[in-house]
Amino acid sequence: MTTIDNIDGFFSSILRASGQFTHQTVYHATKIKLIQNPTGNMHCPKCGDTRKMIISSLYLSTNNEALDQMGLYLLNKGITDSFDEIFPKKVFAALTPSLWNYTCNQCDSVFNSVIYHGPTGISLVVLSSTYGGFSTPNTPESVYYYLDQANKAHLIGANSAAMAMYRAALEHILFNQNFTQKMLGPKIKALNDAIMARTAPKWANELNPKILELINKIGNGAIHPNDGDVKLQSKLDTELLKNVTILFKVLLFVIYEADNKMDSMIKALVDVSDVF
Ligand SMILES: [Zn+2]
Repeated sequence: MTTIDNIDGFFSSILRASGQFTHQTVYHATKIKLIQNPTGNMHCPKCGDTRKMIISSLYLSTNNEALDQMGLYLLNKGITDSFDEIFPKKVFAALTPSLWNYTCNQCDSVFNSVIYHGPTGISLVVLSSTYGGFSTPNTPESVYYYLDQANKAHLIGANSAAMAMYRAALEHILFNQNFTQKMLGPKIKALNDAIMARTAPKWANELNPKILELINKIGNGAIHPNDGDVKLQSKLDTELLKNVTILFKVLLFVIYEADNKMDSMIKALVDVSDVF
């Protein structure tokens, strides 16, 4: 699913909202209020899941000349020309820098995003009024904190830093589950031992502990010297971070939410069954 916490997802959501991918549409989009009520998907920490966000512009670049030039260029090209040839980044370059508002369609949480010229080109960062990144209603604050750090780092392209913070989040998850050994490796080993001894928490039986070892290893790789080979850090790409994010979403649900969800479902069913 495309999400608006990165520049490509933001562009495609704005474009989708413009209806037709024509030069004129984009020209008007850049010149006026962008598009009426564009929306995009993003994780809402308060709702604990992906939600539709209403996008609105707060500040557009004062570089009107650039906007004019871009608009004239687009109009002169005519709407029958291939849209993909000139799009997307040229058009939106005229919108850099700009400031945006995202409002969660369900809980009204507000986020601001900034489009700016970053070292690798046009970039976007999301600033949250609550802890950013992802979490769930019952995730402990200490875990939440490191997931927020990971998310902030990832949003500005600092993937090695993000991976190190995901490793820290995992360590706090285990610490909060009473695995208080000094480092993450021994914590995971203690969890494995508890699974073997059938004394582990229920959630531990529902996941393969190997996955925790892999997070530990990759997290260590993000901060260790690796024989001086910094090129290895390129392995910590967006695809990897996406998979790690999905993994943590699963972990948070299984550890902190599954039982609560089941209890509330049972309660709802019992209330109805009592009628009969
Ligand atoms: Zn929400």
